[in-house]
Amino acid sequence: MMIIDAHCHYFETEGGLDFVKGASFEEHVQDMESANIDKFILFTLNGLFGDYRRANDNLAVIASRYPDMVIPFGTFNPWYGQDALDEIDRCMNVLGFRGFKLHPWMTGFPINSEMLNPFLEKIMSYDVPVLIHSGTPPWSEPLQIGEVARRFPELRIVMAHMGIIDLWKEAIDAAKSNKNIWLETSGVPGSAIKIAVEEVGPERIVFGSDSPYGGQGGHLFQMNKIRFLDLGTTATELILGGNIQRILGI
Ligand SMILES: [Zn+2]
Repeated sequence: MMIIDAHCHYFETEGGLDFVKGASFEEHVQDMESANIDKFILFTLNGLFGDYRRANDNLAVIASRYPDMVIPFGTFNPWYGQDALDEIDRCMNVLGFRGFKLHPWMTGFPINSEMLNPFLEKIMSYDVPVLIHSGTPPWSEPLQIGEVARRFPELRIVMAHMGIIDLWKEAIDAAKSNKNIWLETSGVPGSAIKIAVEEVGPERIVFGSDSPYGGQGGHLFQMNKIRFLDLGTTATELILGGNIQRILGI
């Protein structure tokens, strides 16, 4: 089986956030290798609120050093309008990225805003998935993401954090009524994942760690959270890699 971590950050030391602990990229790669994680989706934080072109360029360099491991996702800030739309094209056509990450809370837009329509349409036209941060009202609640999923039924949406601590029940509801939503497990309690598996099925749940945030070792905690649920081999393999493989088309 292949293990794929659907949610990792390229921890930039320059211009990064000071309230999160991370690890260098080299340490992160070592962590992934020693945990037998074969591949991981990676994106920058700077691209959400800083110079996204530069951030995506940096990511492309990193990804090219580990082409079998790193699955790069682009970031952009929709407040920059046409420039940000062009960046989606550049990420796909020039940098060879495989999807996009949106962070409504950090970038300052409600995910169900009409302003997002041209961006989501463009991402959809490239037939690649979008990973959307969830939780943190009023920017990115699971039911707002559900509204987006209904507006763009062909868009494959991975809901990062599955609503986090308080909103996982809404996340399950959103996934139940929208087949194009997959629930990603970083940060959510294990008990919530178990209920999600029962209610929406293991083929709709995707492992993500949000590492290297939380420092080294966070990926093990997030992975073991799933293993300890004892869901059986088939379900566990789908969640740890099979589902995201299909979503990415790899
Ligand atoms: Zn994250």
